[in-house]
Amino acid sequence: MKSIIHMDLDTFFVSCERLMDSKLNNKPVLIGGTSDRGVVAACSYEARRFGIHSAMPMRMAKQLCPEAIILRGNAGIYSKFSDSVTDIIKEEVPIYEKTSIDEFYADLTGMDRFFGTYKFSTELRDKIIKETGLPISFGLSINKTVSKIATGEAKPNNKIQVVSGTEIPFLAPLSVKKIPMVGDKTYRQLCNLGVKRIRTIQEMPIEVMDRTFGKNGRVIWKKANGIDNSPVVQYQERKSISTERTFDKDTIDTNKLKGILTAMAENLVFQLRRGNKVTACVTVKIRYSDFQTYTLQKRIPYSASDHVILPIVEDLFKQLYNRRMLVRLIGVRYSHLVEGGHQISLFEDDKVINLYQAMDQIRDKYGDRAVMRASGMGAKTISRFNPFNGEPPPLLPNRRA
Ligand SMILES: [Mg+2]
Repeated sequence: MKSIIHMDLDTFFVSCERLMDSKLNNKPVLIGGTSDRGVVAACSYEARRFGIHSAMPMRMAKQLCPEAIILRGNAGIYSKFSDSVTDIIKEEVPIYEKTSIDEFYADLTGMDRFFGTYKFSTELRDKIIKETGLPISFGLSINKTVSKIATGEAKPNNKIQVVSGTEIPFLAPLSVKKIPMVGDKTYRQLCNLGVKRIRTIQEMPIEVMDRTFGKNGRVIWKKANGIDNSPVVQYQERKSISTERTFDKDTIDTNKLKGILTAMAENLVFQLRRGNKVTACVTVKIRYSDFQTYTLQKRIPYSASDHVILPIVEDLFKQLYNRRMLVRLIGVRYSHLVEGGHQISLFEDDKVINLYQAMDQIRDKYGDRAVMRASGMGAKTISRFNPFNGEPPPLLPNRRA
């Protein structure tokens, strides 16, 4: 029997802001684009009482709660707090998975022999709260799905253990919306069928769900019955996406090198956004014609924005390219990846978000190279690959540039 904890920092962005300014305590706080076209990226529980939720247009949120305090958001500060929490978990837990900037799973199986996993989880949570000042909730059960749902029920700033064997009665009275993979569309379909509570799915034969929703239906049925065998996947800070280019003919043309590097960096940022990921570490690599290879990396606030990442890539290249020698290969890598690009990008400048969305839509429709920076246009081909399917990124084929 497994023992898996899910931990989620409560209203994480708001909690970080409150640590820096206690005047925000107990007040409705909104974080996101401040213009009328902006969107709410995060909001406090006090704001939620007015019916405000994340992804709501900021204009509507202001109408619902005119006295709300609106903040722009700061990815740098949130990234630092996220790192502090990660460090504590890393110290205490053998296997943990960081799924987003404020969310973790850990496999505590086997620890019960020594401490009892609930006691261990409670002490871990207390330690995080004491050392960082951030409120955090956890759910503890036999698998990821039940634990995640339990965390949601525990919030704000609390904990729930679902004792092995009680998964079905725990889930039964909850809304089907609480099942992690049930989005708005599936929820509406279920409601149309008169299915509102998880109990109803539990009482249905799996075949009915299969007939109505296909393969997804079977998964939803299993989750509704507290069945989930997915493992906790060890978080790898080295988990990354990268691309590199070996030249047919070694080159010393700096403009050409910069252009290709920009094209590669821009394409990779697009891949991040497409995978709803953000990176916290950028690396640039150069191999000279004598086969000496150099890399330089920089930690950055979680981002998937061209205007944040591309200047860093250019800067690293400038620092790195210091031998007057022909270059054989250049490469870019983004690591420390986590989910949640969507939410973090929401407090960028609205105009920038609109631009990225427009560019990404064109790329989705017409291909990765349909729009790009003028400086990168000299680069002939950037390979098309999905970096999140678990396969290693391919080396770019040699091309005459
Ligand atoms: Mg959270």
